[in-house]
Amino acid sequence: MNKYYTAQICENGHVISSVGDSSDLFCEECGSKIINSCPSCNSPIRGQLNDDSFIVCTYNAPKHCPKCGEAYPWTK
Ligand SMILES: [Zn+2]
Ligand SMILES: [Zn+2]
Repeated sequence: MNKYYTAQICENGHVISSVGDSSDLFCEECGSKIINSCPSCNSPIRGQLNDDSFIVCTYNAPKHCPKCGEAYPWTK
């Protein structure tokens, strides 16, 4: 079964961490709030795949929540 890390992304779409290991609350780049869950349904933002065999280093911020279909703040 595939497991995903929780991503931490600022409201402007800067990816802070795709594996949920940052303790920052605001983006270093633009000062926006960092979120790790969907603002409308609270489900975690999907980060990169948790795969022991190798580290996937390409990660792009998702545009919509896979649980409720809402566009994330950086998409608007
Ligand atoms: Zn930012
Ligand atoms: Zn949602």
